[in-house]
Amino acid sequence: MKELVLLKCGELTLKGLNRGAFEDALMKNARRRLKDVGKFKFYKAQSTIYAEPLEDCDLDEAVARLSKVFGFSALSRAAVAVKDFDAIKELSAEYLKDSLSLAKTFKVAAKRSDKTFTPASPEICAELGHFLLQKFPHLAVDVHSPEVTVIVEIRDYAAYIHREQTPGAGGLPVGMSGSAALLLSGGIDSPVAGYMMAKRGLSLIAVHFASPPYTSERAELKVKALCEKMSPYCGRIKLFTVQFSEIQQRIKELCPEDYFTIIMRRYMMEIASKIAAENHCGALVTGESVAQVASQTLMALACTDAAASLPVLRPVIGMDKEEIITIARKIDTFDTSILPYDDCCMVFTPRRPKTKPRLHEVIKAESALSHDDLIHHAIHGAVSVVIG
Ligand code: ATP
Ligand code: MG
Repeated sequence: MKELVLLKCGELTLKGLNRGAFEDALMKNARRRLKDVGKFKFYKAQSTIYAEPLEDCDLDEAVARLSKVFGFSALSRAAVAVKDFDAIKELSAEYLKDSLSLAKTFKVAAKRSDKTFTPASPEICAELGHFLLQKFPHLAVDVHSPEVTVIVEIRDYAAYIHREQTPGAGGLPVGMSGSAALLLSGGIDSPVAGYMMAKRGLSLIAVHFASPPYTSERAELKVKALCEKMSPYCGRIKLFTVQFSEIQQRIKELCPEDYFTIIMRRYMMEIASKIAAENHCGALVTGESVAQVASQTLMALACTDAAASLPVLRPVIGMDKEEIITIARKIDTFDTSILPYDDCCMVFTPRRPKTKPRLHEVIKAESALSHDDLIHHAIHGAVSVVIG
């Protein structure tokens, strides 16, 4: 029995030229995610993308991976039948025998996009329903809330038999909206922020600030592990690790203590902006949420924004922690995020961080630093690795 995966494209309000680009980007992303599952042929017809295995492979794994590819609204694993109604009936009974044996109720739904095929949809439903009732006499038809829906699609190339569609990841194909640099800490929020922006079609690079010897190598491995967890959704991520201890030490030595965090965050923004621009990114992404900590008050955010030379996207800005955690669990980053390794933000925490910093005061407070040298060193010392 031949099987394949039928993928429905999302956001179909996209029209004309856009739609072709959308589908091409989707096929490219989907093909890449299945690369080590097996050989697949991808093609599109009638606003559906087909992923057809060309060799024996784990189709459950393929479906699991495809359900994380942004841009698909729904998917179904289906059996391929020749366009002959008797063959379709036999194959439906055979293909869905496990579900139909266990269920008490079912119905048939037919979609006939090849209008040359006979019978028409209402007759397909009636006759196939009758056929299946004979094969599985314990079943009853329930058109309103059946346990199993047998779906038959008569399309150009063949007929396809499957159960209910499963939801896709939604959103837009990664890469279609450009690229952004995610400031990735080891915390809960930033991986979620990256996931949310990738869902809007952004491909990501990640910038992580590490402070060895104050932060451990395990903290850096944790950030790599987070990228690995994100990549089934976000695709390939180039992770830059910036050595941040020199900057933190200088701030500690030369700036007023209550400005430490805000100055540190401005340096993060500036360095990330430069790495982003070198890597053709049009924005920064952070996991900041209003009032979560002292550095995330409106006045603090205004001061950090002023140090960024690209727009700063903050998709979790209005979410509370529980909402963010729900997504972190869904994308499986939560357990990694809560591993207890120090982040550079915890290295020197001021006793009374300024919650209402004013930009001109911050600029004055940071004026003792040899700004250009610090930025230059940090960027030249950054190392990168590609994950996913
Ligand atoms: P948490 O779940 O602990 O809040 P967080 O990642 O949100 O984790 P915050 O201290 O709230 O950490 O920092 C706000 C944002 O600043 C982060 O979401 C992240 O985008 C960025 N950030 C913080 N620390 C780092 C770091 N070490 N490297 C890169 N980005 C960082
Ligand atoms: Mg946070």
